[in-house]
Amino acid sequence: MRMEMVINGFPGKTAQGSLSWSSVVYLESGNRKILFDTGGPSKRRSIREHLRRFGVEATEIDTLILSHFHDDHVRNYDYFPNAEILLHEMEAAWADTNPVGDFAFPAPYYKEVKGSGRLTLVKKDEEIVPGISTMLVPGHTPGCMAVVVRDSNRPVTVLAGDAIKNMAELAEAQVPGSHDEAASADSIRRVLDIAEVVVTGHDRVLQVTKTEIIAQSEARETVIVPAGVGGDEALRLELLVGKTSRKRQY
Ligand SMILES: [Zn+2]
Repeated sequence: MRMEMVINGFPGKTAQGSLSWSSVVYLESGNRKILFDTGGPSKRRSIREHLRRFGVEATEIDTLILSHFHDDHVRNYDYFPNAEILLHEMEAAWADTNPVGDFAFPAPYYKEVKGSGRLTLVKKDEEIVPGISTMLVPGHTPGCMAVVVRDSNRPVTVLAGDAIKNMAELAEAQVPGSHDEAASADSIRRVLDIAEVVVTGHDRVLQVTKTEIIAQSEARETVIVPAGVGGDEALRLELLVGKTSRKRQY
């Protein structure tokens, strides 16, 4: 079993909303090459290069697991033309209602994915390959799907997608303002019951102990205003979120 962080999420947004910096994880088990989420618009130019750092070409990916159908997680699915696309059937049922009031739902891409002939709906929690299982974790959207990685060489790791976007949501075990707050809280508690490490949708890789959530790495991003716009030189805003920790409330 191999697991690589292709893109580390970053927990930043602007006053106007998401910067779409979401996590992407590569999993390899036996001869299966799996990608969990595909990154958002800001990674459209670079997702394949990010993956190549691990010696994997986009065309080799045979399975895409989409945590949920939001633009910042599914946008680049078309770069993986040979992959079966897994989406939970409850997410598909929600997407079929064409929830365009949800600003992050990309209706045109959903239509494409549905028509691709590559979409497989996941009906229940199941093992996809040895050590890699799906887990329904609704709340952020109605059919959010996590992946549980169980391997003798690593702590039990849950790839949570936006069911858990960041350290605060994991530590508090609640998400005020989510699509369904009660479902979100229940999903996070079920993840906390089994996870030793959580890869969140938009934050660092987080270690779970009995009392604390501990970031295992820093997160960095840079915002650039091009040269000649704000002055002769480019303006660079370097963002750093350090190796923080937070006491568990649940
Ligand atoms: Zn989302």
